[in-house]
Amino acid sequence: MNIEFNCPHCDRSLAIDEKWRDMEVQCPDCSGSLVPTRVIAKKKDVEQAREKYQETPQNIQREEEERAERKEVLRLRKLQILEDNGLVKIS
Ligand SMILES: [Zn+2]
Repeated sequence: MNIEFNCPHCDRSLAIDEKWRDMEVQCPDCSGSLVPTRVIAKKKDVEQAREKYQETPQNIQREEEERAERKEVLRLRKLQILEDNGLVKIS
């Protein structure tokens, strides 16, 4: 079975039989030496790091929404207390 990866030197798409994955081979395009297993492992790390990074803005938004919700709950509670005391909120 072939495994596919990109050359870490020239980014050319390459394929190699899985049995050679731990061997040091030369890119047919730029003659740079590489070990397929290491190239693939490194790519996975980059992808995982990118996924984590992409999650961050969503998390921030979710936190802001939760905070706004809590604020609204507190505001309503405060208003309720004012009403219970026969006071009306002016602003
Ligand atoms: Zn190359």
